[in-house]
Amino acid sequence: MPDVFADLVGQDEAVETLRRAAAAAVAVLRATGEPEVATGADPGGGMTHAWIFTGPPGSGRSVAARAFAAALQCVSGTGCGECPGCHTTLAGTHADVRLVVPEGLSIGVNEMRALVLRAASTPSGGRWQVVIIEDADRLTEAAGNALLKAVEEPPPRTVFLLCAPSTHPDDISVTIRSRCRVVPLRQPAAEAVAEVLVRRDGIAPDVARWTAAATQGHVGRARRLARDPQARARREAVLAVPRRLTGVGAAFDAASALIEAAEAEAEASVAEIDAAERSALETALGAGGTGRGAASAARGTAGQLKDLERRQKSRATRAQRDALDRALVDLAAFYRDALTMALGAPVSPVHSDTAELARAGARSWQAEGSLRRLEAVLTCRAAIEANVKPRIAVEAMMLALWKG
Ligand SMILES: [Zn+2]
Repeated sequence: MPDVFADLVGQDEAVETLRRAAAAAVAVLRATGEPEVATGADPGGGMTHAWIFTGPPGSGRSVAARAFAAALQCVSGTGCGECPGCHTTLAGTHADVRLVVPEGLSIGVNEMRALVLRAASTPSGGRWQVVIIEDADRLTEAAGNALLKAVEEPPPRTVFLLCAPSTHPDDISVTIRSRCRVVPLRQPAAEAVAEVLVRRDGIAPDVARWTAAATQGHVGRARRLARDPQARARREAVLAVPRRLTGVGAAFDAASALIEAAEAEAEASVAEIDAAERSALETALGAGGTGRGAASAARGTAGQLKDLERRQKSRATRAQRDALDRALVDLAAFYRDALTMALGAPVSPVHSDTAELARAGARSWQAEGSLRRLEAVLTCRAAIEANVKPRIAVEAMMLALWKG
């Protein structure tokens, strides 16, 4: 029977750790008042109040955190996947599980303070208060300090689950890190990803295999690529870039096309939710009212709408950067394919459908030229991450790719 950890692809070690911790957590609940006795009984599988899930994007950090939260709230075992505790946690409706997904570029201090305050309350279901923070590397410094206080002196039944790319000090502060148990996740093998796409999503085996390879083991992107024709079209446009770079003008055109495609993708992904939020707020504020007091209400309304617009703009910027980053990852993999071919390395190409093009590139660029181009793409990613304007970074990259 599939339990809550079934979708955690290719992470046997992490799953083993989490199962033992969930079992230890049950023992803690049984030995109310003497949790140290219960955890001391199994030091290797001990339950603790703060965890960090690390791993590359797509490795399943948030999937792991949610599954562990479900295992902690499971009322019939340690993550059966079928009881109300498991079910509501995975559905995102459990009263004692709070999920923070940053919409903008960072998680602010006010959001964190409110969260820490609620996390200190007694769990209504009598088990644990679980707080999941996705992208904990996007905490502002002040928010990190607010979190640190809670992690240093945790209420007895509160569990923090943080997700971050790594435990590098750039991603998570050393002091928070020192209070947490780390669960490292690895990039799952393409075969493991293909298997879950077939089993869980009913995707045809041959489609599952190539999308798993083309997205380099990123489960979510592989599923989208298999199902969404627009995602396939976007990827094809990105992989057409190398053969379009025939001159300076073409390089600038390619840069514009890449930026505009990322903007369009981001726009489509946030438009619906933006409109829904705005109309919900307007309804809540009684927009369109004509009675007495409507005029003064309208003045307060303007401020709240401005707040909403600011949040939405921040979310749109984030969505654009994410879309652009996905395109750059695809492009980097193309030059990586050329490099491995030039070196004669015995590995399969990431993009099997552009393997011929990569092979031609490998012949004319040799290993050195392929590596320089790969580095140009990686430099562009790093520049955007460091807040260089995307258009400027992408133009510099396209010129570098053209010149070689
Ligand atoms: Zn359960």
